[in-house]
Amino acid sequence: MTPEARPMDMTGAPDWLAALPPLRGKLMAGVTLADICWFRVGGPADLVFMPADTDDLSTFLAALPEEVPLTLLGAGSNVLVRDGGIRGAVIRLGAAFGAVTQTGDTELTAGAAALDVRVARAAADAALSGLSFYRGIPGAIGGAVAMNAGAYGGETGDVLVEVEWLNRQGEKHVSAANQLDLSYRHNGHDGFAVYTSARFKGVAGDKAKIIAEMETISEQREDSQPVKARTGGSTFKNPDGADPDGLKAWKLIDAAGCRGLRVGDAQVSEQHCNFLINHGMARAADLEALGDMVCDRVRDNSGVQLQWEIKRLGEAA
Ligand SMILES: Cc1cc2nc3c(=O)[nH]c(=O)nc-3n(C[C@H](O)[C@H](O)[C@H](O)COP(=O)(O)OP(=O)(O)OC[C@H]3O[C@@H](n4cnc5c(N)ncnc54)[C@H](O)[C@@H]3O)c2cc1C
Repeated sequence: MTPEARPMDMTGAPDWLAALPPLRGKLMAGVTLADICWFRVGGPADLVFMPADTDDLSTFLAALPEEVPLTLLGAGSNVLVRDGGIRGAVIRLGAAFGAVTQTGDTELTAGAAALDVRVARAAADAALSGLSFYRGIPGAIGGAVAMNAGAYGGETGDVLVEVEWLNRQGEKHVSAANQLDLSYRHNGHDGFAVYTSARFKGVAGDKAKIIAEMETISEQREDSQPVKARTGGSTFKNPDGADPDGLKAWKLIDAAGCRGLRVGDAQVSEQHCNFLINHGMARAADLEALGDMVCDRVRDNSGVQLQWEIKRLGEAA
């Protein structure tokens, strides 16, 4: 579910493109974002840039006129891109940022486009425990840092040592994990940042046990979540965050009678009612209207105001 953006001709490319210097990465005008996001909805981006490496990304950012809006996309597993698409530039890191390497006895470094599952597998290969929770999260590492992604009692902030990132002007920085103000599905990093790589620490462990733990995670997910559907994962944050005994969004949604609720081809999953599903023909507007309807019903039923976890991006059609 993480296809590469297809190169297209530059017909309709925005005027500000002329301000950019030669770049080694791919520039694509009018990419339909539905093609690269898990929900399979979303209109066109004015321009998608897939840099060749960090220097290329830096050159792009330094030259991009300040008034051009900039959006970052990873594997598109936690976003709902609206039907009108995204104005300005979208940066999507590709294979050039996909390496995962062991950089110390108990440390791994992953490019921001490396899928979380690859990091989990690399940790298992190196007999490092603590990163198995990444086995079931379908995003890439940049998105994991941006969202402080987590599951099964672990989250990115527990294992992250430091990140490399570029600011809006293309300057390179390194920040320690504790400078990012990470909390439940939240990154409090001040200002714009494109994460380009992340260094993680694990704990020396038993390879067979780590692999068994990953298999259990994978089986539990398949049993409890619509992992093969067109979805965006958990739609709303749990009101009490990561507290295992706290209020759960899915329970509130269920209690409000929303399990299976539909707007057109968009549906609240019967299997896990904090997941919205596109059965094929849903538009982003259907999914967003369904999410808002769920919020209203939960508020009316329990008095709790749910907060979207999924990032809604772009313009309505
Ligand atoms: C079936 C399914 C199950 C899921 N289960 C879980 C789960 O158990 N736990 C969990 O936490 N999440 C879960 N998710 C949500 C999602 O996978 C995570 O939030 C993931 O970390 C998002 O990564 P991504 O690369 O897809 O980011 P995207 O969805 O593309 O983007 C998410 C946000 O990250 C930002 N971003 C992306 N890349 C970068 C970058 N390089 N630098 C800076 N910002 C960036 C984007 O601008 C956006 O704001 C699930 C999703 C699905 C579809």
